[in-house]
Amino acid sequence: TPIEMPNHLVNAHSSPNRHHSISSKRANATFVLLCRNSDVNGVVASIQSVEDRFNKDYRYPWVLLNDEPFTEDFKRRVQIMTHARISFGLIPPEQWVQPEWIDEARARDGRNQLSAQRIIYADSVPYRNMCRFNSGFFYHHELLQPYRYYWRVEPDVKFFCDIHYDPFMYMQEHDKIYSFTISLYEWEPTIKTLWQSVREFIELHPEYIDPQNAMDFLSNDGGNSYNLCHFWSNFEIADMDFWRSERYQAFFNHLESKGGFYYERWGDAPIHSIAAALFARKDQIHFFRDIGYRHEHFQHCPRGTQWELGRCSCDPDDTFDYTPFSCVKKFEGLFI
Ligand code: GDP
Ligand code: MN
Repeated sequence: TPIEMPNHLVNAHSSPNRHHSISSKRANATFVLLCRNSDVNGVVASIQSVEDRFNKDYRYPWVLLNDEPFTEDFKRRVQIMTHARISFGLIPPEQWVQPEWIDEARARDGRNQLSAQRIIYADSVPYRNMCRFNSGFFYHHELLQPYRYYWRVEPDVKFFCDIHYDPFMYMQEHDKIYSFTISLYEWEPTIKTLWQSVREFIELHPEYIDPQNAMDFLSNDGGNSYNLCHFWSNFEIADMDFWRSERYQAFFNHLESKGGFYYERWGDAPIHSIAAALFARKDQIHFFRDIGYRHEHFQHCPRGTQWELGRCSCDPDDTFDYTPFSCVKKFEGLFI
Protein backbone atom coordinates (compact mmCIF):
# COMPACT_ATOMS: atom_id res chain seq x y z
CA THR A 1 0.00 0.00 0.00
CA PRO A 2 1.30 3.45 -0.87
CA ILE A 3 2.16 5.64 2.08
CA GLU A 4 -0.10 8.63 2.31
CA MET A 5 1.60 11.94 2.82
CA PRO A 6 -0.05 14.73 4.74
CA ASN A 7 -1.22 17.42 2.34
CA HIS A 8 1.04 20.20 3.57
CA LEU A 9 4.14 18.06 2.91
CA VAL A 10 3.02 17.13 -0.58
CA ASN A 11 2.62 20.82 -1.36
CA ALA A 12 5.96 21.74 0.17
CA HIS A 13 7.73 19.35 -2.15
CA SER A 14 5.79 19.94 -5.30
CA SER A 15 5.75 23.71 -5.46
CA PRO A 16 9.00 24.87 -7.08
CA ASN A 17 8.77 28.55 -6.17
CA ARG A 18 8.15 28.36 -2.50
CA HIS A 19 9.31 31.44 -0.71
CA HIS A 20 12.07 29.82 1.31
CA SER A 21 13.32 27.25 -1.14
CA ILE A 22 16.43 29.23 -2.22
CA SER A 23 17.21 31.64 0.58
CA SER A 24 17.05 29.12 3.40
CA LYS A 25 19.47 26.71 1.75
CA ARG A 26 22.89 26.74 3.29
CA ALA A 27 26.20 25.54 2.01
CA ASN A 28 28.50 23.24 3.94
CA ALA A 29 30.95 26.05 4.54
CA THR A 30 33.12 27.93 7.01
CA PHE A 31 35.42 30.91 7.34
CA VAL A 32 39.11 30.11 7.86
CA LEU A 33 41.57 32.49 9.44
CA LEU A 34 45.20 31.61 10.08
CA CYS A 35 46.93 33.95 12.51
CA ARG A 36 49.21 34.50 15.48
CA ASN A 37 48.16 35.66 18.94
CA SER A 38 49.90 38.96 18.17
CA ASP A 39 47.52 39.49 15.21
CA VAL A 40 44.54 39.92 17.56
CA ASN A 41 43.67 43.54 16.69
CA GLY A 42 43.73 42.84 12.97
CA VAL A 43 41.74 39.64 13.45
CA VAL A 44 39.02 41.45 15.38
CA ALA A 45 38.84 44.15 12.70
CA SER A 46 38.55 41.60 9.88
CA ILE A 47 35.87 39.55 11.64
CA GLN A 48 33.88 42.69 12.36
CA SER A 49 34.01 43.64 8.70
CA VAL A 50 32.86 40.20 7.51
CA GLU A 51 30.12 39.97 10.14
CA ASP A 52 28.71 43.45 9.49
CA ARG A 53 28.71 43.15 5.71
CA PHE A 54 27.60 39.53 5.38
CA ASN A 55 27.72 36.94 8.11
CA LYS A 56 25.45 38.52 10.73
CA ASP A 57 22.54 37.26 8.61
CA TYR A 58 24.03 33.85 7.82
CA ARG A 59 26.07 32.76 10.83
CA TYR A 60 28.53 30.59 9.00
CA PRO A 61 31.07 29.25 11.52
CA TRP A 62 34.63 30.48 11.96
CA VAL A 63 37.73 28.30 12.24
CA LEU A 64 40.85 30.05 13.49
CA LEU A 65 44.17 28.27 13.15
CA ASN A 66 47.56 28.92 14.71
CA ASP A 67 50.90 27.13 14.95
CA GLU A 68 50.93 28.03 18.66
CA PRO A 69 48.06 27.65 21.16
CA PHE A 70 45.69 30.62 21.17
CA THR A 71 45.80 32.51 24.45
CA GLU A 72 42.73 33.02 26.64
CA ASP A 73 43.07 36.75 26.04
CA PHE A 74 43.01 36.23 22.27
CA LYS A 75 39.89 34.07 22.48
CA ARG A 76 38.15 36.55 24.75
CA ARG A 77 38.80 39.40 22.32
CA VAL A 78 37.68 37.45 19.26
CA GLN A 79 34.69 35.53 20.57
CA ILE A 80 32.52 38.58 21.16
CA MET A 81 32.74 39.61 17.49
CA THR A 82 30.23 37.05 16.24
CA HIS A 83 27.14 35.06 17.17
CA ALA A 84 28.36 32.27 14.92
CA ARG A 85 30.29 29.32 16.25
CA ILE A 86 34.07 29.88 16.53
CA SER A 87 36.65 27.12 16.92
CA PHE A 88 40.30 27.67 17.76
CA GLY A 89 42.69 25.10 16.33
CA LEU A 90 46.32 24.19 16.74
CA ILE A 91 48.33 23.17 13.67
CA PRO A 92 50.27 19.92 14.11
CA PRO A 93 54.04 20.62 13.83
CA GLU A 94 54.52 18.20 10.92
CA GLN A 95 52.18 20.40 8.85
CA TRP A 96 54.07 23.53 9.79
CA VAL A 97 57.78 23.23 10.46
CA GLN A 98 60.46 22.86 7.81
CA PRO A 99 60.79 19.12 7.09
CA GLU A 100 63.97 17.35 8.18
CA TRP A 101 64.84 16.24 4.67
CA ILE A 102 65.21 19.86 3.53
CA ASP A 103 68.89 20.68 3.11
CA GLU A 104 69.23 23.61 5.50
CA ALA A 105 72.43 24.91 3.90
CA ARG A 106 70.69 25.10 0.54
CA ALA A 107 67.61 26.68 2.12
CA ARG A 108 69.78 29.32 3.82
CA ASP A 109 71.48 30.01 0.54
CA GLY A 110 68.06 30.53 -1.07
CA ARG A 111 67.03 32.95 1.67
CA ASN A 112 70.25 34.91 1.25
CA GLN A 113 69.80 35.16 -2.50
CA LEU A 114 66.31 36.63 -2.09
CA SER A 115 67.53 38.99 0.63
CA ALA A 116 70.19 40.33 -1.72
CA GLN A 117 67.37 41.15 -4.16
CA ARG A 118 65.36 42.88 -1.41
CA ILE A 119 62.38 40.58 -1.90
CA ILE A 120 59.68 40.79 0.78
CA TYR A 121 59.88 37.98 3.41
CA ALA A 122 63.16 36.87 1.76
CA ASP A 123 64.66 35.79 5.04
CA SER A 124 61.60 34.43 6.79
CA VAL A 125 61.21 30.72 7.54
CA PRO A 126 57.78 31.16 9.26
CA TYR A 127 56.48 32.84 6.09
CA ARG A 128 57.60 29.79 4.11
CA ASN A 129 55.91 27.49 6.65
CA MET A 130 52.72 29.49 6.16
CA CYS A 131 52.86 29.25 2.36
CA ARG A 132 53.43 25.50 2.50
CA PHE A 133 50.64 25.02 5.05
CA ASN A 134 48.17 26.98 2.91
CA SER A 135 49.20 25.00 -0.17
CA GLY A 136 49.17 21.51 1.21
CA PHE A 137 47.64 21.14 4.64
CA PHE A 138 44.98 23.51 5.90
CA TYR A 139 42.12 21.54 4.29
CA HIS A 140 43.35 18.40 6.11
CA HIS A 141 43.08 20.05 9.53
CA GLU A 142 40.60 18.18 11.72
CA LEU A 143 38.51 21.30 12.34
CA LEU A 144 38.00 21.68 8.58
CA GLN A 145 37.12 18.07 7.87
CA PRO A 146 33.35 18.60 8.17
CA TYR A 147 33.32 21.35 5.54
CA ARG A 148 33.48 21.60 1.78
CA TYR A 149 33.64 25.33 1.03
CA TYR A 150 35.78 27.86 2.87
CA TRP A 151 36.25 31.60 2.78
CA ARG A 152 39.78 32.64 3.68
CA VAL A 153 40.14 35.78 5.76
CA GLU A 154 43.35 37.45 6.97
CA PRO A 155 43.99 39.98 9.73
CA ASP A 156 43.40 43.63 8.76
CA VAL A 157 41.38 43.09 5.60
CA LYS A 158 38.33 45.19 4.72
CA PHE A 159 35.04 44.29 3.08
CA PHE A 160 33.65 47.49 1.63
CA CYS A 161 30.13 46.47 0.54
CA ASP A 162 27.02 44.76 1.84
CA ILE A 163 26.79 41.27 0.44
CA HIS A 164 23.11 40.59 -0.17
CA TYR A 165 23.36 36.92 -1.12
CA ASP A 166 25.31 33.86 -0.04
CA PRO A 167 28.61 33.57 -1.98
CA PHE A 168 29.05 29.99 -0.76
CA MET A 169 25.71 29.00 -2.28
CA TYR A 170 26.70 30.88 -5.41
CA MET A 171 29.81 28.69 -5.67
CA GLN A 172 27.81 25.54 -5.14
CA GLU A 173 24.92 26.34 -7.47
CA HIS A 174 27.22 27.45 -10.29
CA ASP A 175 29.70 24.58 -9.97
CA LYS A 176 32.60 26.92 -9.09
CA ILE A 177 35.72 25.60 -7.37
CA TYR A 178 37.78 28.78 -6.89
CA SER A 179 37.17 32.50 -6.72
CA PHE A 180 39.05 35.76 -6.35
CA THR A 181 38.71 39.54 -6.11
CA ILE A 182 42.25 40.65 -7.04
CA SER A 183 44.67 39.16 -9.52
CA LEU A 184 48.28 40.24 -10.08
CA TYR A 185 51.85 39.29 -11.03
CA GLU A 186 54.16 37.25 -8.77
CA TRP A 187 57.74 38.22 -7.86
CA GLU A 188 59.71 36.04 -10.26
CA PRO A 189 62.73 35.38 -7.98
CA THR A 190 60.43 33.70 -5.39
CA ILE A 191 59.31 30.99 -7.83
CA LYS A 192 62.32 30.60 -10.15
CA THR A 193 61.86 26.88 -10.79
CA LEU A 194 58.13 26.53 -10.05
CA TRP A 195 56.99 26.51 -13.67
CA GLN A 196 59.63 23.95 -14.61
CA SER A 197 58.18 21.69 -11.90
CA VAL A 198 54.64 22.35 -13.15
CA ARG A 199 55.65 21.36 -16.67
CA GLU A 200 57.20 18.15 -15.37
CA PHE A 201 53.95 17.37 -13.58
CA ILE A 202 51.90 18.00 -16.72
CA GLU A 203 54.10 15.54 -18.61
CA LEU A 204 53.77 12.94 -15.87
CA HIS A 205 50.00 13.39 -15.55
CA PRO A 206 48.43 14.77 -18.71
CA GLU A 207 45.17 13.12 -17.62
CA TYR A 208 44.75 15.67 -14.82
CA ILE A 209 44.66 18.65 -17.17
CA ASP A 210 41.10 19.75 -17.90
CA PRO A 211 40.40 20.11 -21.64
CA GLN A 212 38.69 23.44 -20.89
CA ASN A 213 41.52 24.73 -18.69
CA ALA A 214 42.63 28.34 -18.22
CA MET A 215 46.25 27.87 -19.37
CA ASP A 216 45.98 31.14 -21.30
CA PHE A 217 45.59 32.97 -18.00
CA LEU A 218 48.94 31.56 -16.84
CA SER A 219 50.94 31.60 -20.03
CA ASN A 220 51.24 33.81 -23.10
CA ASP A 221 52.93 31.09 -25.13
CA GLY A 222 50.70 28.05 -24.72
CA GLY A 223 52.35 26.80 -21.54
CA ASN A 224 56.02 27.16 -22.42
CA SER A 225 56.61 29.91 -19.87
CA TYR A 226 54.69 31.33 -16.89
CA ASN A 227 53.51 34.93 -17.20
CA LEU A 228 53.41 35.24 -13.35
CA CYS A 229 49.64 35.89 -13.24
CA HIS A 230 47.90 34.56 -10.17
CA PHE A 231 44.91 35.17 -7.92
CA TRP A 232 45.68 36.93 -4.65
CA SER A 233 45.00 34.18 -2.13
CA ASN A 234 44.51 36.30 0.99
CA PHE A 235 40.90 36.34 -0.26
CA GLU A 236 39.58 32.99 -1.42
CA ILE A 237 36.21 31.35 -1.48
CA ALA A 238 36.88 27.88 -2.75
CA ASP A 239 36.05 24.20 -2.65
CA MET A 240 38.26 22.15 -0.31
CA ASP A 241 37.22 18.97 -2.10
CA PHE A 242 39.20 20.31 -5.03
CA TRP A 243 42.36 20.59 -2.87
CA ARG A 244 41.61 17.16 -1.41
CA SER A 245 41.22 15.59 -4.85
CA GLU A 246 43.67 13.04 -6.21
CA ARG A 247 44.89 15.46 -8.88
CA TYR A 248 45.66 18.32 -6.51
CA GLN A 249 47.20 15.99 -3.91
CA ALA A 250 49.48 14.52 -6.57
CA PHE A 251 50.37 18.06 -7.69
CA PHE A 252 51.18 19.22 -4.18
CA ASN A 253 53.28 16.11 -3.47
CA HIS A 254 55.21 16.69 -6.67
CA LEU A 255 55.93 20.30 -5.73
CA GLU A 256 56.73 19.37 -2.13
CA SER A 257 59.33 16.86 -3.36
CA LYS A 258 61.21 19.70 -5.08
CA GLY A 259 61.73 21.58 -1.81
CA GLY A 260 60.82 24.88 -3.47
CA PHE A 261 58.81 26.08 -0.48
CA TYR A 262 62.16 26.39 1.35
CA TYR A 263 64.87 26.58 -1.35
CA GLU A 264 62.94 29.36 -3.03
CA ARG A 265 59.84 30.96 -1.53
CA TRP A 266 56.96 29.40 -3.42
CA GLY A 267 53.68 31.06 -2.48
CA ASP A 268 50.32 29.42 -1.99
CA ALA A 269 48.82 32.02 -4.32
CA PRO A 270 50.59 30.94 -7.52
CA ILE A 271 50.23 27.28 -6.53
CA HIS A 272 46.47 27.51 -5.93
CA SER A 273 46.07 29.60 -9.07
CA ILE A 274 48.02 27.26 -11.31
CA ALA A 275 46.10 24.25 -10.00
CA ALA A 276 42.70 25.90 -10.42
CA ALA A 277 43.63 27.08 -13.90
CA LEU A 278 44.88 23.68 -15.08
CA PHE A 279 42.81 21.04 -13.26
CA ALA A 280 39.38 22.66 -13.57
CA ARG A 281 37.34 24.23 -16.33
CA LYS A 282 38.00 27.93 -16.78
CA ASP A 283 34.34 28.68 -16.04
CA GLN A 284 34.77 27.06 -12.61
CA ILE A 285 36.88 30.04 -11.53
CA HIS A 286 34.83 33.04 -10.46
CA PHE A 287 35.69 36.73 -10.24
CA PHE A 288 33.57 38.20 -7.40
CA ARG A 289 33.46 41.66 -8.92
CA ASP A 290 30.63 42.67 -6.57
CA ILE A 291 32.69 41.99 -3.41
CA GLY A 292 34.58 45.14 -2.39
CA TYR A 293 37.79 44.07 -0.69
CA ARG A 294 41.09 45.47 0.54
CA HIS A 295 44.28 43.83 1.74
CA GLU A 296 47.19 46.24 1.92
CA HIS A 297 48.24 47.66 -0.49
CA PHE A 298 45.60 46.88 -3.08
CA GLN A 299 41.84 46.91 -3.29
CA HIS A 300 38.99 45.91 -5.52
CA CYS A 301 36.00 48.26 -5.57
CA PRO A 302 32.82 47.43 -7.52
CA ARG A 303 31.45 49.96 -9.98
CA GLY A 304 28.03 51.22 -11.05
CA THR A 305 24.90 49.69 -9.59
CA GLN A 306 26.86 47.06 -7.65
CA TRP A 307 28.61 49.88 -5.81
CA GLU A 308 25.32 51.61 -5.00
CA LEU A 309 23.38 48.49 -4.02
CA GLY A 310 26.25 47.36 -1.83
CA ARG A 311 26.52 50.72 -0.02
CA CYS A 312 30.21 50.37 -0.72
CA SER A 313 32.54 52.54 1.34
CA CYS A 314 35.34 52.45 -1.24
CA ASP A 315 36.09 54.95 -4.01
CA PRO A 316 34.93 53.20 -7.22
CA ASP A 317 37.79 54.88 -9.09
CA ASP A 318 40.29 53.30 -6.71
CA THR A 319 40.27 49.71 -7.92
CA PHE A 320 43.15 47.49 -8.94
CA ASP A 321 41.43 45.78 -11.88
CA TYR A 322 42.43 47.98 -14.76
CA THR A 323 45.85 49.09 -13.56
CA PRO A 324 48.88 47.75 -15.47
CA PHE A 325 49.68 45.47 -12.51
CA SER A 326 46.42 43.54 -12.66
CA CYS A 327 45.84 40.24 -14.48
CA VAL A 328 42.06 40.70 -14.60
CA LYS A 329 42.09 41.62 -18.30
CA LYS A 330 43.81 38.34 -19.01
CA PHE A 331 41.18 36.46 -16.99
CA GLU A 332 38.36 38.18 -18.84
CA GLY A 333 40.10 37.42 -22.14
CA LEU A 334 39.54 33.71 -21.50
CA PHE A 335 35.83 34.16 -22.10
CA ILE A 336 35.80 36.16 -25.34
P1 GDP B 1 51.17 38.67 3.39
O1 GDP B 1 49.70 38.86 3.26
O2 GDP B 1 51.75 37.89 2.25
O3 GDP B 1 51.92 39.94 3.64
O4 GDP B 1 51.44 37.73 4.67
P2 GDP B 1 50.79 37.77 6.12
O5 GDP B 1 51.82 38.18 7.12
O6 GDP B 1 49.50 38.52 6.11
O7 GDP B 1 50.51 36.22 6.35
C1 GDP B 1 49.49 35.53 5.67
C2 GDP B 1 48.56 34.86 6.66
O8 GDP B 1 49.25 33.90 7.44
C3 GDP B 1 47.93 35.81 7.66
O9 GDP B 1 46.63 35.33 7.96
C4 GDP B 1 48.85 35.71 8.86
O10 GDP B 1 48.16 36.00 10.05
C5 GDP B 1 49.26 34.26 8.80
N1 GDP B 1 50.63 34.00 9.27
C6 GDP B 1 51.79 34.42 8.72
N2 GDP B 1 52.86 33.98 9.40
C7 GDP B 1 52.36 33.24 10.44
C8 GDP B 1 52.96 32.51 11.53
O11 GDP B 1 54.18 32.43 11.68
N3 GDP B 1 52.10 31.88 12.38
C9 GDP B 1 50.74 31.94 12.24
N4 GDP B 1 49.99 31.30 13.13
N5 GDP B 1 50.15 32.61 11.23
C10 GDP B 1 50.94 33.26 10.35
MN1 MN C 1 48.28 39.35 4.62
